[in-house]
Amino acid sequence: MEKQKIVIVGGVAGGATAAARLRRLSENSHIVLLERGEHISFANCGLPYYIGGSIEKREKLLVQTVEGMSRRFRLDIRNLNEVLSIDRLAKTVRIMDLRTGKEYEESYDVLLLSPGAKPFLPPIKGIAEAKNLFSLRNIPDTDKLKTYVDDFEPKSAVIVGGGFIGLEMAENLHDLGISVRLVEVSEQVMEALDFEMASILQDHLRKKNMVPVVY
Ligand SMILES: Cc1cc2nc3c(=O)[nH]c(=O)nc-3n(C[C@H](O)[C@H](O)[C@H](O)COP(=O)(O)OP(=O)(O)OC[C@H]3O[C@@H](n4cnc5c(N)ncnc54)[C@H](O)[C@@H]3O)c2cc1C
Repeated sequence: MEKQKIVIVGGVAGGATAAARLRRLSENSHIVLLERGEHISFANCGLPYYIGGSIEKREKLLVQTVEGMSRRFRLDIRNLNEVLSIDRLAKTVRIMDLRTGKEYEESYDVLLLSPGAKPFLPPIKGIAEAKNLFSLRNIPDTDKLKTYVDDFEPKSAVIVGGGFIGLEMAENLHDLGISVRLVEVSEQVMEALDFEMASILQDHLRKKNMVPVVY
């Protein structure tokens, strides 16, 4: 692979994996990894299990540090740096360093976008003001939710959404002794599964007293 300057937007699952793979393919490329959050390459999959307590230590979620990964793969990693815009003709991105508020430009030969997704928040009145409502996507979300659960020891919870993350949170909150109600807009939990398979899950939820409210 020829020597190139590769700029990657997003430094967690896709972005960090791509950076490591690109370094293995080319020793010469300059690889810049831009992440607006504080953490890179953390274990998204473990977040519900840390809240539930089966992963005891927070540091177990932090698969890589900026320093460790920069050194290991000779990467130019800039966390707390948000890409604001892309100029495709000039092949540059505009970036804000969130620590200082300063904006700057970075050129690229190849741009790789891995900015992830945001949880969908239904347009329900009061949702923005509620102090006991959470979504789960990253480490700051996890810290907020875990602190709430540990400090206030809630007795009941409603989970909106019966997909992977909703079910994992149901399992973990239930294990903490919290009475869980799961609400799902479609006809079954885990919409990606055939109904016969989802029924096994729904039976299991019923046995655990987490009667799913579907449709
Ligand atoms: C709680 C939870 C549990 C999960 N469990 C599993 C599981 O068990 N198995 C599984 O396969 N998958 C699981 N997933 C899904 C998996 O984590 C995602 O599919 C994966 O993280 C997607 O990778 P990504 O690189 O597209 O986005 P992400 O990993 O979300 O990374 C995107 C990053 O881009 C950054 N970013 C966005 N915009 C900008 C910008 N303009 N400038 C700079 N940075 C930016 C964001 O801050 C973010 O950190 C889970 C996800 C969650 C939230």
